[in-house]
Amino acid sequence: TDSRPPAPMRNEFPLLARNPGLIYLDNAATTQKPACVLDAEREFYETANANVHRASHRLAVAATGAFESARATVAHFLNATTPNEVVFTRGTTEAINLVARSWGQASLRPGDEIVLTELEHHANIVPWQFVAQATCATIRAARIARDGTLDMEHFHSLLSPRTRLVGCTLASNAIGTMPPIAEIVAAAHAHGARVLVDAAQAVAHQPVDVQALGADFCVFSGHKVYGPTGIGALWAREDILQAMPPWQGGGEMIDRVSFAGSTFAPAPARFEAGTPPIAQAVGLAAALEWLIQQDRAALLAHENALRIRLENGLKHMPGVQIVGPNTDKAPLTALRFAHAHPFDVAQFLDNHDIAVRVGQHCAQPLLQALGESSLLRVSFAAYNTEDEIDRFLAALEETLELLA
Ligand code: PMP
Repeated sequence: TDSRPPAPMRNEFPLLARNPGLIYLDNAATTQKPACVLDAEREFYETANANVHRASHRLAVAATGAFESARATVAHFLNATTPNEVVFTRGTTEAINLVARSWGQASLRPGDEIVLTELEHHANIVPWQFVAQATCATIRAARIARDGTLDMEHFHSLLSPRTRLVGCTLASNAIGTMPPIAEIVAAAHAHGARVLVDAAQAVAHQPVDVQALGADFCVFSGHKVYGPTGIGALWAREDILQAMPPWQGGGEMIDRVSFAGSTFAPAPARFEAGTPPIAQAVGLAAALEWLIQQDRAALLAHENALRIRLENGLKHMPGVQIVGPNTDKAPLTALRFAHAHPFDVAQFLDNHDIAVRVGQHCAQPLLQALGESSLLRVSFAAYNTEDEIDRFLAALEETLELLA
């Protein structure tokens, strides 16, 4: 496959264009934004800014139209059956908190079990601990094997009639593992459990089709898919979402309010209390439209080719080990060093204007299971190039010699 991106892509990203020497390899944390996303937010503020859903004046109608059209774009991006299945949130974290607090609090009973995996980001662990505490439910975690893949035998052994929810990531943000999600969803459903899929690390790289996935909840963040911060989405099957109680109270989410009590709007409005992130939703829609216009199979092939180029280049570098599986993995590489601390390595790389992430990657149970205290992560996006990988490899080699 041709692993070069269309040449002008870097120029579509103003931050990259302004920093020609920068090698940005921290894309799993957040991606850079194309100009069309920044333009869409600016255009919204300059031409249509008003609050949504409240007034009937011309601008309010324009703002509401832009916001609801953004919801339709997210629904289309995820292949949802209707925009009513899409709730705007601040991001993945808030979306999982919403499901845990609303669905979890209403559905879980003492003795019920929530099955997670050791691959999960803290965002798919801590909200479940809150609701488990409140409902006397129990959390069980499917183990990983030594190579960082999910131990499917152990996963299946955890499922029982007590299992009410299975929460699983499409890709580990720390080591890239992509668990066999179809098998996981089918097994969970066979036990009558609901399934929440964390798509935060998948959306930028592969089409996520909620109907094909067959899960009950799917969540992602805009800022990891070339969109703005402060916006993300929860997708939930319409019948499930309509049956869920509200979690935050305020304006926009109500039907009628009196001091005797209140009734609530149907979903998704019921879950969007207060003024929503309107311009951010418009920016997110621009990002998703930008991505939909790309040849997504070619982008993924490009990102995977960069990963393989990196991993091949590392094979013969002394004192470097790749952590995690080498197939069925998101375009990122996690590294450990025999003779250097990853924080020192990252600092030296920063002196070469190379941005990578080092630490526990909000996945402490995973690092514990791997027996690691911190890892250095190199993660790819559409705009990265082979030349950047070669420069990274040269800088790393020099750094490790210095630190040896
Ligand atoms: N889940 C995964 C797999 C992630 O990679 C992240 C972000 N690192 C999150 C959840 C949380 O996303 P956010 O911080 O945007 O809410």
